[in-house]
Amino acid sequence: MTARVCIAGGGPTGLMMARLLAEDGHDVSLYEAASEIGGLCRSRVVDGYTFDLAGGHIMFTKDRRVADFWTKLFHDEPCVVTERQTRILHDADHLVSYPFENALGELPLEHNLECTEGVIRAHLARQAGAPEPADFESWIRWKMGDGVAEHFMNPYNRKIWKSDLASMGTAWIAGRVPDAPLEDVLQASLGATTEGYTHQSQFQYPLTGGFSSIHQRIADPVSDRIQLNHRVEHMAQRPGGGWIVDGEEFDHVISTIPLHVLPDVLEGMEPGAADAARKLQYRGVAAFLFGVEEEFAQPWSWVYLPHKEQGPTNRVTYLSNYSPRNAPTGKASIMAEVTYAGTPPSLTDAGRREVASGLQNAGLLDVDRLTITDAHANPVSYILYDRDFESKRDTVLACLDAMEGLHTLGRFGRYEYHNSDQCLARAMDLHAQLLPVLAQGGGVDKGQGGDDA
Ligand SMILES: Cc1cc2nc3c(=O)[nH]c(=O)nc-3n(C[C@H](O)[C@H](O)[C@H](O)COP(=O)(O)OP(=O)(O)OC[C@H]3O[C@@H](n4cnc5c(N)ncnc54)[C@H](O)[C@@H]3O)c2cc1C
Repeated sequence: MTARVCIAGGGPTGLMMARLLAEDGHDVSLYEAASEIGGLCRSRVVDGYTFDLAGGHIMFTKDRRVADFWTKLFHDEPCVVTERQTRILHDADHLVSYPFENALGELPLEHNLECTEGVIRAHLARQAGAPEPADFESWIRWKMGDGVAEHFMNPYNRKIWKSDLASMGTAWIAGRVPDAPLEDVLQASLGATTEGYTHQSQFQYPLTGGFSSIHQRIADPVSDRIQLNHRVEHMAQRPGGGWIVDGEEFDHVISTIPLHVLPDVLEGMEPGAADAARKLQYRGVAAFLFGVEEEFAQPWSWVYLPHKEQGPTNRVTYLSNYSPRNAPTGKASIMAEVTYAGTPPSLTDAGRREVASGLQNAGLLDVDRLTITDAHANPVSYILYDRDFESKRDTVLACLDAMEGLHTLGRFGRYEYHNSDQCLARAMDLHAQLLPVLAQGGGVDKGQGGDDA
């Protein structure tokens, strides 16, 4: 039996679902609101420079299935493999290793002392039973001490989250904030090299077309099933089973639409769940691309800019290091990420110059010698983990998961802090779950069933 499946959203998650279900012979329609596929993983090429529109994206996965899938996807043009080289710009004279606690010996001596003392004091306090705080700001001091909080964690996290850190929770931290053992921190403080964060020590990136070429390739076999410029505005369950999406009938809906938008789209959400969905918080990322002369090239993959004087940028990516084809010969590119809550920063020439000026203050480029600039704002980019995040999300998902034939998936489709590889993996998981359901009549037979009862 063939099922009619609507997929809302043409980012990595939706595209992967479309491909997998179409391979099984199902009748798939994918609706994408934008004029292009790829979601946050889109890229564009401007004057020979490749620009990943939502900031620095790399291919890295711990999921064997995704790694094998990528290898097959790029069988004709293997991806570029890079050893990760990341730094933190502490001040004009100190570009230190990442993570910060493994770089204490590279700091000015007085900062090293403050940080090391803080790490030891925090360690002793925890050993004496200091309870783990529930808010992020207190957690930073509890875990890393006052020096690391002042010199890196607080300024960096305030810059990226645009939020009072005390209003944020800690449930998202595991696996995302590096956790250095005390011995390593002390050795680092004395100047020894300690390894620190080995996660993503090597990554891949497509040779041509930027990060988006992954998703262009995923979409290739299903390009005729994709409707661009179609923002899904209405989804409702049919009384006899199945769904109506913008007037079309389907057996199943796979929604990657951000949960906070769903109450305006999905009929029949319980008021409590709709209210919780509307209160989920997120942040945008504006990405600024600067073409520069090769003399401004650096060997780094990306550099964190924690301090205010370095301008609004929280991270720059040396995108031309990811693939030799990301910039014209003899040129390099630097991409800056600026997060925002609500209104994006100005993307005009003046706005770009302002961001570039911060990078000039940081010694990374010369505003009068840029070869090109480009900018793009992505309003829904990061989940903000406020303190009641989990209870809000659980309320929303409990309601949605109870709706037969509706499957929510994706970074904002389920509000899970997933990179694109995890989105592909979740699509593979859902596909495996749906396979028997759809094969054994989960689909409503086009000829008879499914009419209004
Ligand atoms: C700064 C930053 C850096 C990142 N770095 C990496 C990295 O290095 N590696 C990595 O793998 N991942 C990275 N990610 C994560 C990656 O971008 C996401 O995991 C991935 O794009 C999520 O895919 P998705 O399909 O779930 O959602 P999205 O990419 O957000 O796609 C959702 C799509 O749904 C569409 N849509 C929304 N509403 C509607 C509607 N009503 N109707 C129709 N369409 C709709 C949107 O237009 C969009 O195209 C990064 C993200 C950010 C913000």
